[in-house]
Amino acid sequence: MSDTPEHTQNASFAQVGDVLRDHQSFVLLSHVRPDGDAIGSQLALGYALMALGKSVRLINEDGLPENLAFLPGSERIESPPAEPFDVEVAIALDTATYPRLGERALHAASKAGLWVNIDHHISNTRYGDVILIDSTSPATGQILYDLITSLGLPMPAETRDAIYVAVSTDTGSFQYPSTTAKTYDMAADLIRRGVNVGAINSATYDESPFRRLELMRALLNTLERSPDGMVAHWLLRDHVRVDLGLMPEDSEGLIDFIRAIRGVRVAVFFEELADGKIRVSMRSKDRRLDVCKIAAEFGGGGHALAAGIRMKGPLDVAKAAVLDSIRRRVDEVSRES
Ligand code: AMP
Ligand code: MN
Ligand code: MN
Repeated sequence: MSDTPEHTQNASFAQVGDVLRDHQSFVLLSHVRPDGDAIGSQLALGYALMALGKSVRLINEDGLPENLAFLPGSERIESPPAEPFDVEVAIALDTATYPRLGERALHAASKAGLWVNIDHHISNTRYGDVILIDSTSPATGQILYDLITSLGLPMPAETRDAIYVAVSTDTGSFQYPSTTAKTYDMAADLIRRGVNVGAINSATYDESPFRRLELMRALLNTLERSPDGMVAHWLLRDHVRVDLGLMPEDSEGLIDFIRAIRGVRVAVFFEELADGKIRVSMRSKDRRLDVCKIAAEFGGGGHALAAGIRMKGPLDVAKAAVLDSIRRRVDEVSRES
């Protein structure tokens, strides 16, 4: 993979279309601990390419999470094979940095001669040879919808449903401010093409495993709020993960409950990982409190209102450092207003 300055410009849809039409074999990748936009984007583009008769592999470092197994065609998502395989083009989806694709996935895809990077993270490092990054898009799935419809690529049912779920999950069910009229137009078009709204939303949101609510109970026991009520956080220690038999996806979206507290401007979730690293998830309700910038101080990234970090432990040290940085920024903004 090369990372030279001439590749920092976005490719046009037509240029990406040429790459897709002029090659026969593709591997599609997305970030570690994949969410609905990551897996949804792999399925969306993957099934459009398969419908064109291309040879396609869909690989994720962490495999297919159980909560997304309802997506039609998701059985094609594989964990990385141990050995690299022959493939012409690798396409990274919804992934801000090259290492977030995962070591084993990168090794498996290492024979690809051309790398395409399609994403909506403002912190995207613009790695790869052909780049299509739109940080105004609420989800990578919406960029793929635009690409597929404007190039006249096929949209099989797997692609259609995957785009709907990718965008729904990345917008908090079409609620976050990144959601625009264009997003609703897209959703309407997907429904006209046959998305079953009731069924797909209940599969996405009404099928929590019981342990997810047990996790919620454990998190609520750790909930704390700053004296001014502007910053709230909760945390998950590794023994709770073991005790409850948690899967990584079980905590997905729970941070929205503390983000939703009146007066809270920044919500934070700290999670001790099995390898001793700390995963930090942040949400902001105020564009001046850009959590992507705070994440960047610790080597993380994301979007202004939703960002994450994977950092060194122990938990208490990481927590103190991140909360301190948030506090300084909250105080700055309070002084400005
Ligand atoms: P999460 O809190 O995991 O839902 O992530 C919020 C947003 O930040 C998502 O768009 C992630 O892709 C991004 N993100 C999370 N963790 C990281 C990280 N360690 N580095 C870069 N971006 C991240
Ligand atoms: Mn994602
Ligand atoms: Mn996304």
